[in-house]
Amino acid sequence: MAELDLVVTNCRLPDGRVGQHIGVGADGRIAVIAGGAAPAARQVLDAGGDLALPALADAHLHLDKTLFGLPWIPHAAGPTRMSRIETDARVLPGLPLPTAERAAALIRKGLAHGTLHLRSHADITPEFGLSALEATLAAREAFAQACTIQVVAFPQAGVMRAQGTVELLEEGLRMGADLLGGLDPCEVDRDPKGQLDALFALAERFGVGIDIHLHEPGEMGLFSLQEFCARVRAHGMQGKATISHGFCLGGIIESKQQAAAAMMAEAGVALATHGAGGAPLPPLGLLRDAGVGILCGNDNMRDTWGPYGTADMLERAAIIGWRSDWRTDDRLHAMFSIIGAEASRALGVAEHGLEVGRPANLLTLPAEGVPEAIAQHPPRRLVLFEGRLVARDGTALV
Ligand SMILES: [Zn+2]
Repeated sequence: MAELDLVVTNCRLPDGRVGQHIGVGADGRIAVIAGGAAPAARQVLDAGGDLALPALADAHLHLDKTLFGLPWIPHAAGPTRMSRIETDARVLPGLPLPTAERAAALIRKGLAHGTLHLRSHADITPEFGLSALEATLAAREAFAQACTIQVVAFPQAGVMRAQGTVELLEEGLRMGADLLGGLDPCEVDRDPKGQLDALFALAERFGVGIDIHLHEPGEMGLFSLQEFCARVRAHGMQGKATISHGFCLGGIIESKQQAAAAMMAEAGVALATHGAGGAPLPPLGLLRDAGVGILCGNDNMRDTWGPYGTADMLERAAIIGWRSDWRTDDRLHAMFSIIGAEASRALGVAEHGLEVGRPANLLTLPAEGVPEAIAQHPPRRLVLFEGRLVARDGTALV
């Protein structure tokens, strides 16, 4: 075997094996996982018996809105969504740190916690134009050696009510956004047919997936969800469509939840949740058991929408698991699959996992196994992306 580029010694693996080393070749891929004497390598990192896990993925966040990188700014928005949208427009343009640098600060937070795959929404509104998208795309480029980032062209101020937004979204896709976003077609736009028809036509024309924010409650949200799923089927976009939040699913009777879950599974529509703070949580167990893909994300982190969020996906998994009453090891393993392998696949990452031949995207932490890693989310010690050390002891190195 050619000399390894790097070896992480003395790892515990998720399957319970201890004293294992993970060797990485010059191509950044895992070349060997084995016990016994560690092979020679250019760089040796001692995991000290810690658990090694494959990369975590954050399937829903907002890099452009964060206030990380700045001194603490008290929450300024009122209690409604419209107030938060207006606060964005008032506060974000005047911040002393450019969007790309605030985004970088948040990306580094995620890296320090082992989050190596991200899907970020980027606001596109008549007021901001394409500036937030440009900054998010620049951050994606700047961190290409440390993580993967999907960018969603997101009409935060609505589509039909915000004149010129369809054209801006189109330009955003031309500039390199990976997916198309949307927002509450009834409640914000009061024109569900108008918004959804416009979005699906654009998505089909550019061959991109679609991921819409759906905060609408109860029956109103369910109506939008039904209209969304019908268009996913009509446009042949099964497997490329996501409903973010889907609070309505937590606010309808169980027979309707079952019917909605069956509809989503049949249409290949995933649900992305952040744990629904302040709103009814969708029934994740029921949805997953019905075959609906579940994604998890941190959503807003220390930003104009709220002060919370640490960019730790294990902590987020614990919050969502706690709210969902997922207590058994089986459920905790399912949650780990949701924030790891399943999310990575949904985020367009072809290869994921601690296996020989796969990219060495991994983290280490002091835990006995996956269930404890989620429930206790202890600090991350080593984080590798494609075989390079990108964070150590809670600090990003890039
Ligand atoms: Zn969001």
